[in-house]
Amino acid sequence: MKNIPNVFGSMVFNDAVMKERLPKETWAALKRTMKSGRSLDKSIAGVVANAMKDWAIEKGATHFTHWFQPMTGVTAEKHDSFISPTGDGAVIMEFSGKELVKGEPDASSFPSGGLRATFEARGYTAWDPTAYAFIKDNTLCIPTVFCSYGGEALDKKTPLLRSMEAINRQALRILKLFGTEAGRVTTTVGPEQEYFLIDRELYKQREDLVLCGRTLFGAKPPKGQEMEDHYFGAIKPRVSAFMQDLNEELWKLGILAKTEHNEVAPAQHELAPIFTNTNTATDHNQLTMEIMKRTAQKHGLACLLHEKPFAGVNGSGKHNNWSISTDTGINLLEPGDSPRENAQFLLFLTAVIKAVDEYQDLLRVSVANAGNDHRLGANEAPPAIVSMFLGDELTEILAAIENDRPYSQKDKEEMKVGVHTLPRFPKDSTDRNRTSPFAFTGNKFEFRMLGSTFSISGPNIILNTIVAEELSQFADALESAEDFNSALHALIQKTIREHKRIIFNGNNYSPEWVEEAGKRGLLNLRTTADALPAFIADKNIALFTKHKIFTATEMHSRYEILLENYCKTLNIEAQTMTDMIRKKILPAVSAYERELCETALRKKDLALPAGQETKTAAAISKFADCLYEQTERLEEALLKAKELDDTKAQADYYRDSILPLMAEARSSADMLELRTGEKYWPFPTYEKLLFYV
Ligand code: ADP
Ligand code: MG
Repeated sequence: MKNIPNVFGSMVFNDAVMKERLPKETWAALKRTMKSGRSLDKSIAGVVANAMKDWAIEKGATHFTHWFQPMTGVTAEKHDSFISPTGDGAVIMEFSGKELVKGEPDASSFPSGGLRATFEARGYTAWDPTAYAFIKDNTLCIPTVFCSYGGEALDKKTPLLRSMEAINRQALRILKLFGTEAGRVTTTVGPEQEYFLIDRELYKQREDLVLCGRTLFGAKPPKGQEMEDHYFGAIKPRVSAFMQDLNEELWKLGILAKTEHNEVAPAQHELAPIFTNTNTATDHNQLTMEIMKRTAQKHGLACLLHEKPFAGVNGSGKHNNWSISTDTGINLLEPGDSPRENAQFLLFLTAVIKAVDEYQDLLRVSVANAGNDHRLGANEAPPAIVSMFLGDELTEILAAIENDRPYSQKDKEEMKVGVHTLPRFPKDSTDRNRTSPFAFTGNKFEFRMLGSTFSISGPNIILNTIVAEELSQFADALESAEDFNSALHALIQKTIREHKRIIFNGNNYSPEWVEEAGKRGLLNLRTTADALPAFIADKNIALFTKHKIFTATEMHSRYEILLENYCKTLNIEAQTMTDMIRKKILPAVSAYERELCETALRKKDLALPAGQETKTAAAISKFADCLYEQTERLEEALLKAKELDDTKAQADYYRDSILPLMAEARSSADMLELRTGEKYWPFPTYEKLLFYV
């Protein structure tokens, strides 16, 4: 292993490199922009570009790219080399300020949800100086935002930066009221990433894994995860070699890969980085997913990021650990030592409580896709119902404030905000509940509903914006108050009273909770098709336009993209399914049937009993006929789906008609797998995929 501190960040144009390579004034101007989020003085772009180019070429780079995050959920790049002809047949290596600041990728093939008519297909990318440039594959990657010529956001980064600005603005108003010093407030995120690793040769033999990222067939193997022997188990040498290589690649890019362990399902693992600001954490998580896939390939493995690659064992999620901090080093979701600090903490805490309650629908939308529909509510992940875990101690404190009573038995005094000091909550006492979708873990919230493939930008845009909105309402109320302390107490008390229904410390997997949540009036949006329309509800359009995160047009376009994505995903899955049935499964079982029937006939000639062969052939014949009919019905339904021209109607049709038909076909195919000789079955089984790395 190389010297880690030397390797760490060696491919990043970070503060240290900038300080060393930029003239003092340029460095100071750039730093100001990075800190304040304000736009950069154009004149210095050329100087920065030149320093970046020299540094990149020394590191072996030949190309540069504007690296951006379109609505596909993955990152995009178009490489240009640094060469520039000198007119005498030679070239020099050039990179101008203009090239750094703005790019014009042909954008007509990225999803825009109707925003960018093809006749004006050019979008543009603009340098985001608040994120570091880095080198990947001999290419200098410049983080950028991606917009249409009309200025509408076509990516996931622009609204994320806008939402960070919104929460900064509103949180500073609150801090001013408390007299807390801060120049800037940012949200921080540490995303824990789950994934599966399987053998690449086996992976390539399954069209469903290659095309859909998940298995569409597969009988349950004799062993699953019931022995609970994989979670935190010893890491196998091949996986360990992968992890070592992965860490090194991530460290080079300045990604703070920290914790790795085996997860619950066989062949499942997790990687957690140390948290950083939300913008950087988003870039880093996108890079982490990409590098995981690439490193797996190098090791003869395939990395599966799908939310539910295998039925019957746990799927993969992503835990979005989220908090709010100041540039003066205060974590605003951590109780402090003085009554004033605690009052401030309680105000931020109740802002989050109110936000989660009022915008349950948006949080649900932010984690909705076809893959995650297999997890949420399936006793392995939080339910589709959004609620919050605060732990007994904090819940008890809130109840004391709400009801004007003492906090503990010993303590006779009523709990008054701004007067009392809160006890410290050790992480252990707040984090016992692993079933909650949104858990307070001592100094941050852990949003656990994200699927493993998600870009974390969506959920964080929502989190930042909904909390910004509540903070702005609180600031409005408190700025005009005559007596700050009593207004603060009253505000916190009222907020607890009105929104405590969202707090639930019990088992979120239990059927009783579904019933109880219904009584409390909490939403239960079970599928993506159920959840998505909430995105364009009037109250949500009002929210996003007020804080200038999205225009109404941008919201409608995103809604359209998300719905289309759901339909397209299910269409690809269903088509892959019928293809595998017709071309692989049915021919394979016919071949096995023929062998059984021929054997039975010969046995009969010899007057030998052929009960086993005859009965097996009969069962296979029955399930195969059934599967054939189901496939015909699925194909007919797919044609019907295509005829629907309203995207919402189409999404509903996929949910109500296509998915049940797929489930039926799968169950017949799995029955066939259990009855067919191993050497006849046309692709690797669950046992091979899950236990042989
Ligand atoms: P778990 O118990 O859920 O497995 P871990 O300790 O593995 O938790 O992960 C916790 C994650 O939370 C880490 O990525 C860590 O960096 C992150 N985290 C810690 N403090 C903060 C914070 N203030 N803001 C955002 N994320 C944080
Ligand atoms: Mg976690």
